[in-house]
Amino acid sequence: MNYKEALIHPIFKVISKSAQELHLDAFVIGGFVRDFLLSRGDAKDIDIVAIGDGIQLAKQVAKNLPNNPNVQVFKTYGTAMLKYKDIEIEFVGARKESYTENSRNPAVENGTLEDDQNRRDFTINALALNLNVANFGELLDPFDGVKDLKEKIIRTPLNPDITYSDDPLRMLRAIRFATQLNFVIEEHSLNSITKNNNRIRIISKERIITEINKILESDVPSIGFILLEKTGLLEHILPEITALKGIDEVEGQRHKDNFFHTLEVVDNISKHTENLWLRWAALLHDIGKAPTKRFSKKVGWTFHGHEFEGSKMVYRLFKRLKMPLNDKMKFVQKMVLLSSRPIVLAQDLATDSAVRRLVFDAGDHIEDLMTLCEADITTKNPRKFNKYHNNFKIVRDKIVQVEERDKVRNFQPPITGEEIIKTFNLKPSREIGIIKEFIKEAILDGKIPNEYEAAQKLMLEKGKKLGLKTSSEDD
Ligand code: ATP
Ligand code: MG
Repeated sequence: MNYKEALIHPIFKVISKSAQELHLDAFVIGGFVRDFLLSRGDAKDIDIVAIGDGIQLAKQVAKNLPNNPNVQVFKTYGTAMLKYKDIEIEFVGARKESYTENSRNPAVENGTLEDDQNRRDFTINALALNLNVANFGELLDPFDGVKDLKEKIIRTPLNPDITYSDDPLRMLRAIRFATQLNFVIEEHSLNSITKNNNRIRIISKERIITEINKILESDVPSIGFILLEKTGLLEHILPEITALKGIDEVEGQRHKDNFFHTLEVVDNISKHTENLWLRWAALLHDIGKAPTKRFSKKVGWTFHGHEFEGSKMVYRLFKRLKMPLNDKMKFVQKMVLLSSRPIVLAQDLATDSAVRRLVFDAGDHIEDLMTLCEADITTKNPRKFNKYHNNFKIVRDKIVQVEERDKVRNFQPPITGEEIIKTFNLKPSREIGIIKEFIKEAILDGKIPNEYEAAQKLMLEKGKKLGLKTSSEDD
């Protein structure tokens, strides 16, 4: 087969010419070819294999490009990278790899194209197109990768036990591709991943999280999490999530399976947001339920304080997985902490002051919080489903009204501490905080509008009650 039409980008002609000048063969391989055959849109990264020196080829290509881009050389890996417009092109010499027990970094020697295809993770990632002038666009597909593309199958070129044990990251890549492409992992592969799951321990946390993030960024992330659970990988990576599995029953009372509920929430939210961290919040919103689960005869199953417990667990989880401990983490914590608040509001008709407090606590994240809470509605009872969604609509409307009137989203106290100090001629003291808090509470309760004059009046009243004298009274 010939796929010249995959190679219309002018860069391929330049690579072809450069290879000819160096008297070596060159191929485009892997993700670019796969994504072309799947019509997955324009690739932003292209992988080139040279039968010979890949770094030399990169330099020749750079020389032949109009803007002579800089070539970045990674000596230890024997690779080179250059950027042309918005595309990253990586060059490597064809290689043969042999692995040792404790590392995913193999010993490498020069090899043929076939050796290089053998070391690829999946048949669909081993597809290569010839860039030689004589056979430009010819497909090299030694493992029937095109057939697997058509049949939507993830399969390893070699014995899966060897492929996964050599580089356990491939287990996660298999599940990630199955999720992104909605493919099925072939049975031997799946068994082999299960068998090798504890080898994931030799993979760095950063690489694990890269794959988990790609799963979370897919259209239907639950595909990946179900596979991770089934193969035993999830237990190694996110035991907080597997702990949510199962339904307990005491005296005929059951609670829902919070693992499957969580996955439903993640799928729901993925229809409404691309925000990775909001998707993380959906994944983690119930993790506090495992440690707080109790049964009492009177009320049945409870998870008291699970939101608070959950938000503390978020920190430990991020830290363990070497994820950023920055404002992203704080955002996830906040979402988990507040995740039940709108639901409580939506069960009855929400009062203005309850909505005002919610907006105050959520601040700029109120929209995200509402999106999370709507995704959290997984009841299969259509009457309840509609009722909750309707109530959330009402809450959303109220948020707009309350915000228009009182602007508590990014609350700035209308009376500053300095003004209180001046008014009552105070030294730094407890009273300042008391008065500020009193004014804030009055605004959130709707007793006074969020305006200077009303707040100033209240300050004077409260000061008087506290036995303070204004500066003018002192005179
Ligand atoms: P994407 O770019 O969407 O993540 P990709 O398949 O292009 O998908 P890359 O990480 O860019 O993934 O890798 C490029 C190619 O290198 C792959 O298509 C595959 O042939 C090979 N490859 C990458 N990682 C591995 C691995 N761990 N084991 C074997 N081959 C790999
Ligand atoms: Mg790629």
